[in-house]
Parts: sequence; structure tokens; C-alpha cells
Amino acid sequence: SMERAWAEIDLHKLEENVKTIQNLLPKKCKFMAVVKANAYGHGDVETAAFLNKIGVEAFAVATLEEGIHLRKCGIQGEILILGYTHAGRARELSQEELIQTVVDREHGEALNKMGFPVKVHIKVDTGMHRLGESYWDSKGIGKLFLLKNLMIQGIYTHLCVADSKEEEDVAFTKRQIQHFYETLREIEKKGYPLPLVHIQSSYGVLNYPELQCDYARIGIALYGVYSKEEEVKTPIELKPIMAIRSRVALVRKIKKGESV
Ligand SMILES: *Cc1c(COP(=O)(O)O)cnc(C)c1O
Repeated sequence: SMERAWAEIDLHKLEENVKTIQNLLPKKCKFMAVVKANAYGHGDVETAAFLNKIGVEAFAVATLEEGIHLRKCGIQGEILILGYTHAGRARELSQEELIQTVVDREHGEALNKMGFPVKVHIKVDTGMHRLGESYWDSKGIGKLFLLKNLMIQGIYTHLCVADSKEEEDVAFTKRQIQHFYETLREIEKKGYPLPLVHIQSSYGVLNYPELQCDYARIGIALYGVYSKEEEVKTPIELKPIMAIRSRVALVRKIKKGESV
């Protein structure tokens, strides 16, 4: 390199992180690599292509554009869009075989009306209040199962304070988990087939490893970074995959008493 400074991404360490995290997951739980925001700045295509090569088959991105970009660059497997996509883009979702998050009931109905079969995961809002249909509206969630253009493959929620060991945050998280499973039971009671279930992101796995899910959505831990100094319930050795390097341009010797 002839640059002044550069970032190096160590794919060997990336593989080690995947294996370390996979060891914590139940056997049936699929590793979903979160590669949104250019893989947290590490290069989304390079990261996803390498993960594909070592057997990772599920990815998550924030937007439709991120998903299309990965497909155009040859990324195989499932790609879940975690954020909102306008229903008017249902054709692209369908063509690129992307999985769209249904952010609430109206969104699901709008997607269905477009006339293209779209794979979706339903998001349930269990208290974060960002995206998702409210957990208490299992009737509304159930109605989504009747929409013929929605191929419902998953249902999930997001634990927003799973990284905290504060008593009130732990209580909040436990309530979220409880609400989510209650909603699932209600959906089953209504006779709808339960799709694949996921709850945990990185800290969900590290602090609530007992949850038995079909996917774990792993972002920050994949890149080898703990976002908090605090201890986690299941400490594992993660290796930062990025190194920032800079060239030493000049070393000077100066006399005692001179100024710089
Ligand atoms: C970003 C994101 C993740 C990944 O979170 P990390 O803490 O980086 O593991 C998981 N799920 C959703 C819904 C997200 O938006």
C-alpha cells in the first residue's frame, strides 16, 4: 500500500468469531449475519461473500438498496431487510428474492395488494416502539396470515436493552420476551402455522443464551467488538477484525530544550 493510512480486515478472525458465536447457539439456530451499513463499515460485499464461502446462509440488511446491492454482487442465501420498504417496490423484493420485514399490519396489506409474491418476516413490537405490529394485537397479526401474496417465513422482535445488566433493563427485556411468546401462542391458538422465530441480536445471545430460536441476528459481535465494557453472562473471546494502520512518515531527533 502506498497510502498514508488504511484499514485492514482480517477474514481469518471473522471466521473465528463466527465459529465462537455459533458454539453458543442451539444446534437448530441459524446464524444470520447482520451486514447493514456496509457491514458496520467493514465492506458489505467482501464480508458477505466470505461468509457465504464459509457456509453462512442468512444475512440481514437495513434497506432494499443494501439487499439489491448484495444480490447484484452475487451473494446467495436469505437476505432479510430489517427496515421499512415502500410497498411500491414489491416487484423488486420478489425479483431479487429478498425477505421484507412487515413493520405493521397496514404495511403487510399494502405489500399484499401489489400482486407479487413477497417473502416476509413479521416484526412484533414488544416495547421498543421502533417497528413492528403491537404484541397485544395478535388478532391483527393473525390477519396477515390470510394475505395470499405474503409468504410468511418468519416472525421476530428486537430486545432493545439486552446489552444492559441493570435490574430494570433486565426486567424490561424479560417482559419483552414474555410478550413475544404470548403473541406466538395466540397465533398458534388461532390455527395459523408458526413461522421461524427469532429474538436475539449479539447481546441477546451473550446475555440470554437460554432462548431457543431459529435464527440469531448477529451484528457487532461478528466484527469482534463488544459495544459495552460491562461483563456479559456468557463471556467469549471475540477478535476485532479491523485494524487501522498508518505509516510512520518521519522520525526526528531533536536536542534537549528545543521545542516541537
Ligand atoms: C442492527 C440490528 C441487529 C444486530 O444488532 P447487533 O447488536 O449489532 O448484533 C439485530 N436486529 C435488528 C432488528 C437490528 O436492527
